[in-house]
Amino acid sequence: MNESIAAFLGRAIAAQYAMPPRIPRRVPVQPVLVCPHCKTVTHGYRFEMREGHGIEAHHCACCHRDVVPIWSAVSHPADWSTV
Ligand SMILES: [Zn+2]
Repeated sequence: MNESIAAFLGRAIAAQYAMPPRIPRRVPVQPVLVCPHCKTVTHGYRFEMREGHGIEAHHCACCHRDVVPIWSAVSHPADWSTV
């Protein structure tokens, strides 16, 4: 134990900087339209009127019927039996 504390710390810090940083690999997630209540992916229906105006309606497959969807990267599949 002849090594001084300063030498030990210097060696430890040098070893710490020599190691490559650990960066977790992340999969980019695209946000999807989901039900604001249960985060289930909604089914969208688009209707075209005679005047050329479009109406878009979204239906929650879970139990909330017609909803105004939100964009979210967190979502549940519309069919829970596949989980
Ligand atoms: Zn819902």
